Amino acid sequence: MTRLVSPTTPALSVVIPCYNEAACLDVLHARVSGAARAAVGDDYEILLINDGSRDDSWPVMQRLAAADPRLVVINLSRNHGHQLALTAGLDLCSGAQILIIDADLQDPPELLTDMRAAMASQGADVVYAVRRKREGETLFKKATAAAFYRLLDRVTDTAIPLDTGDFRLMSRRALDAFLSMPEQARFIRGMVAWVGFKQIPFPYDRAERHAGETNYPLSKMIRLAFDAVTGFSTAPLRFASHLGLALTGASLLLFLYIAVGFFSGSAVAGWTSTMLVVVLLGAFQMFVLGMIGEYLGRLYVESKRRPLYIVGDVVGPIQGRATLGYRAEEPVGESNVTIETPGDNGTRPTR
Ligand code: UDP
Ligand code: MG
Repeated sequence: MTRLVSPTTPALSVVIPCYNEAACLDVLHARVSGAARAAVGDDYEILLINDGSRDDSWPVMQRLAAADPRLVVINLSRNHGHQLALTAGLDLCSGAQILIIDADLQDPPELLTDMRAAMASQGADVVYAVRRKREGETLFKKATAAAFYRLLDRVTDTAIPLDTGDFRLMSRRALDAFLSMPEQARFIRGMVAWVGFKQIPFPYDRAERHAGETNYPLSKMIRLAFDAVTGFSTAPLRFASHLGLALTGASLLLFLYIAVGFFSGSAVAGWTSTMLVVVLLGAFQMFVLGMIGEYLGRLYVESKRRPLYIVGDVVGPIQGRATLGYRAEEPVGESNVTIETPGDNGTRPTR
């Protein structure tokens, strides 16, 4: 894949996935350009990813790009969904800092300056925006979102920040670490949290959509929730073994009750043996199913082939922005590591 922008690495990339956002694009382009210019002067790029829109988004993007050399527009083959469209943009951008933002201007791009200041003053790698208020969203959306984030927090091992979308500013090394995760089912805000480094919250008030309507109907929200829970937790699989264990305990108590009935002669003939079979078999089946679930869960975790760890700083010749995520089996040293510096020669390796 060839890069579409200047061969030098910009200070800032703004990555924006767009699905049916034609009515937002002009204002979006103006406001994001203004915010980027205020932050880094002319040293930025904006990437718009058209995620198979069914409206005029793509022609509008092409028109905007023709007039602005800092705008890169990417057209996906079809609608891949928000998380994959965003991944495409993150793969193709080359900035030293990366701002992720929605196309509908619910997240004000003007916060960029303050987010950069927070990143610099606190030495953070990720500044994630936390929603204080959500204007113009239905009670249902707010309630389901709140419930979802809290459920997620309970079942996952990775601490995923509450009430946080994908609106965030990232350093290049945090982004490269993120891009080293190959999984298909992507829950980006969780994956970024998994990467580690210093990540700080940035409270803000979420505005209403500039135009159009939400592209996250209930069905997509449910799919995202499943990706989030299954991508970061095997708790649902473990559920069967816990249930099996509880049932086994309960069936032992029942067993006593049945035995008392049998020996005191108060039980109906045949009831004892039937109950015994039903209760014990049910409990054992559930327990064995749970055991299988435990193995399946581990298999699943392994099959994701995530990098085992992400190296932070390296002192020596490969210091700095080029620090990528290494696999454990690759030796990290001064001499035997070759580093690709994305953007320096105007190309990025195709994944
Ligand atoms: N989006 C996308 N592909 C989709 C759905 C949404 O690229 O299939 C984009 C959309 O254009 C917007 C962002 O993802 O920039 C968030 O979507 P939306 O505003 O509809 O979600 P909400 O803010 O209502 O959760
Ligand atoms: Mg929105």
